[in-house]
Amino acid sequence: MPSRYTSRFAPSPTGHLHLGSVYTALASFLDARANHGLWQLRFDDLDTQRNVKGSVESILKTLETLGLHWDNAVDFQSQHLADYHAVLADLMADEKIYRCQCSRKNLPLIYPQTCRNQNVSPQISHSLRIKTDARQIYFNDRLQGNISQNLADEGDFILKRKDNIVAYQFAVVLDDARQNVNNIVRGMDLLNETPKQIFLQQILNLPIPNYLHIPILVDSNGKKLSKTTFAAKVDLKNPNHLLFQLLELLKQLPPVELKTENVSEILNWAIENWQPENLKSTL
Ligand code: GLU
Repeated sequence: MPSRYTSRFAPSPTGHLHLGSVYTALASFLDARANHGLWQLRFDDLDTQRNVKGSVESILKTLETLGLHWDNAVDFQSQHLADYHAVLADLMADEKIYRCQCSRKNLPLIYPQTCRNQNVSPQISHSLRIKTDARQIYFNDRLQGNISQNLADEGDFILKRKDNIVAYQFAVVLDDARQNVNNIVRGMDLLNETPKQIFLQQILNLPIPNYLHIPILVDSNGKKLSKTTFAAKVDLKNPNHLLFQLLELLKQLPPVELKTENVSEILNWAIENWQPENLKSTL
């Protein structure tokens, strides 16, 4: 039996949710519910310097007000530090990763593998890099179609930073596996990160989820929303109006009568009529 559609929304607690992030949250929620799936919430809180106090509460409140109720307990990456470090130790024992003492400032975009065979002492401040090869990574994005990228374009990328912070690329792969995530809906800004994540899934023998990358938010003239509009905290005074506006931005063509319905009626309509392929024309 195929396993149940299982998804997640993974905000970083670096502030309140802005229009662009609730747009992504709603798309991911609707795709999960339209597929009778689970929708989980995970806080990507590993980059402790970027975390902002109070944002977890603010994000929970925004999602609740919009009726975007999640399944299972809220997950925090910071609760799983020991697991990430245990997998890093295994990868080190298998010589799949190596210590690197280079300073990022002076490096070209593709790391020249300076430290790959240097056996840098663990006593020296170091990052951990994965040994990549020139393999071609293919995947079929549900919206963007066939994507193919050679990993040589990425080079040996970092799994743990010098300041001991586990890198997003690595954590996200373990997180999604831990939460049995088999479908990911997120913004196009992460499309370029996906081949690296698939490579890690291959190396770690983890299942590869389906991906759907949605276009970044544009206004009705097709222009990218200005920074101030995009970054503004969403106004929760009229959650039904906000949902209606988001459905329009998601090209779901909500009927105008829906605007005055309550949150759960709007969501029910949106789940029943969810057409992610409508987003195809918005680039
Ligand atoms: N925490 C990431 C972000 O806010 C999302 C990660 C993901 O969806 O893979 O950009």
